[in-house]
Amino acid sequence: MAKHTIVLIPGDGIGPEVSQAACRVLEASGLSVTWVEALAGASAVERGMGDVLPGETLDAIKRYKIALKGPVTTPVGKGFKSVNVQLRQKLNLYAAVRPVRNLPGIKTRFEGVDLVIVRENTEGLYSGIENEVVPGVVTSLKVASEAACTRIARYAFRYANRRHRQKITVFHKANIMKLSDGLFLKCSRKIFEEEYPNINYDEVIIDAGCMKMVQDPTKFDVLLMENLYGDLMSDLCAGLVGGLGVVPGSNIGDDAAIFEAVHGSAPDIAGKGWANPLAIIMSGVMMLNHIHEEALATKIKTAYDAVLAEGKNLTRDLGGTASTDQFADALIGKIK
Ligand code: NAD
Repeated sequence: MAKHTIVLIPGDGIGPEVSQAACRVLEASGLSVTWVEALAGASAVERGMGDVLPGETLDAIKRYKIALKGPVTTPVGKGFKSVNVQLRQKLNLYAAVRPVRNLPGIKTRFEGVDLVIVRENTEGLYSGIENEVVPGVVTSLKVASEAACTRIARYAFRYANRRHRQKITVFHKANIMKLSDGLFLKCSRKIFEEEYPNINYDEVIIDAGCMKMVQDPTKFDVLLMENLYGDLMSDLCAGLVGGLGVVPGSNIGDDAAIFEAVHGSAPDIAGKGWANPLAIIMSGVMMLNHIHEEALATKIKTAYDAVLAEGKNLTRDLGGTASTDQFADALIGKIK
């Protein structure tokens, strides 16, 4: 088996706890790996690196192309620009891919949820272009470019086609944001009509889409949307299948990819040893598929499905009492 070099960013809060558990699981599957540890977030500043995203960390990801990342803390309303937004913009990780599905043993309101959110990751209101026009009046600019809208639409259709998905639904608010969301829709329609007419295509205004989602998420397959909507829908959909502890994610570009859970650094439970490591483990499984270690990915997926179905070693967010390490140990015990 090829030896992989993967950048590991432990992150802040519960990040080091869950990422360490994920590394143990990945190695137990037989992955031959050298981890290159790199700092980001509050922990980078605390260690005197002077920035939430040190140049060394960015260089390591550029060099090795693949990173597994724990969540990082972002101050609200002040301070440094978000590490995540910077990483996505600086490395051009234009596609956030977040699969959301029911898991064995985790009872939720709905069964049969199996959808994928494809979120544009570099533009929209996350462009960070904010101005104080006059004292007491501020603006935030929503950016949409034809190049980025076309790129994410093409990514989503290609993903759907390769994974034998049936339908893409674009969530938008083009009835109000006629230019920016209008352009997103125009580019999506063009890719559908010219390149992937074999995939079913649908558009829904996002407010109605949210209602439809919570009424019956099984009606959705691949969801395509701009940055902010994708951020919100990711947490909403996580809530439909058991919460933030069970939803993985990836940020994909042409030259690099970062795999991370959808959840944040959970300061309320950091250091307690309770955090559910499943989401970052699942993100690790996505990473294994990305680096063509599909057999190892299947081993881990089968093992966590078995632990969940058994229901004995669940963490608190899933109604159990297991610690982060107990869950990881139980999973490792099931790897065949
Ligand atoms: P959060 O996702 O950290 O936590 C929301 C709730 O979910 C909390 O009650 C938390 O305890 C729980 N939770 C989250 N992950 C869990 C897990 N693995 N196991 C068990 N429970 C879990 O969201 P927040 O509190 O809004 O954000 C905290 C910080 O994380 C903020 O600074 C935010 O900016 C940052 N954040 C980072 C990322 C990232 O790095 N990718 C993503 C989202 C938020």
